[in-house]
Amino acid sequence: MRLTILGSGTNIHPTRAASGYLVRTDHTILLDFGPRTLANLQKTGVNRHRITHILFSHYHADHFSDFITYFFDAMIFTKYQGGTRPPLTVIGPRGTKKFFRTLFATLPGFTQAPFAVHFKEVSDRAFMIGKTSVIPRTVTHTQNLHCLGYRIEYGGKALAYSGDSQYCDSLVRLCGDADLAGLDCSFPASRPNPVHLHAGQCGQVAKEAGIGQLVLSHFYPVTDRYNVREQAGEAFGGKIVVGRDLLTIKL
Ligand SMILES: [Zn+2]
Ligand SMILES: [Zn+2]
Repeated sequence: MRLTILGSGTNIHPTRAASGYLVRTDHTILLDFGPRTLANLQKTGVNRHRITHILFSHYHADHFSDFITYFFDAMIFTKYQGGTRPPLTVIGPRGTKKFFRTLFATLPGFTQAPFAVHFKEVSDRAFMIGKTSVIPRTVTHTQNLHCLGYRIEYGGKALAYSGDSQYCDSLVRLCGDADLAGLDCSFPASRPNPVHLHAGQCGQVAKEAGIGQLVLSHFYPVTDRYNVREQAGEAFGGKIVVGRDLLTIKL
């Protein structure tokens, strides 16, 4: 299994794309699809038309907005350029079907794509994509919004992704004994925010979950001015990677 960070920043950031991750198992899967991650996806050399599954943690724009550009391009490719692509399955939290129904009914042409598109709402139950096991888990982010973290298991390895999350037991369980956890490190420990983890809490989750390596990501611009590795390292003694766009980690 290979993880490539497509975006390690947030909505507006001078040097980093927003949230997006490419996971390569027996399938090519995207975790979130925030602004500027599509441009980074192209830089990976992966054929974007071979992506079969997109998993969303939630629909804040910094995790979602490049989907619109991606899908529009897929329509042009299949309708007017003679291209073909496999069916696309879009998976996300409660509200996913309603969200896309509204979006597709509003954006010109979106309901007339010449390839199959499936929308699937998931909660806390594991499912398979081919030989890849996916375990979604509800995490706490903002009030009244269903947000998911995902655990992906393939070839005897486990990768956990927090999505956006506060510190919560559910997140610790999601990450339990994972080989790698990519966590929402929006802010430094000295500048905490109520709806995101800070670097110190990322270290705490990593320690409590007993993970192999911690990947810090989803940085707000202010966070780049602080030593988040050191802050996370106060609790966690394992390997800590400060995420950057287009970094690939093999598991
Ligand atoms: Zn969010
Ligand atoms: Zn976010």
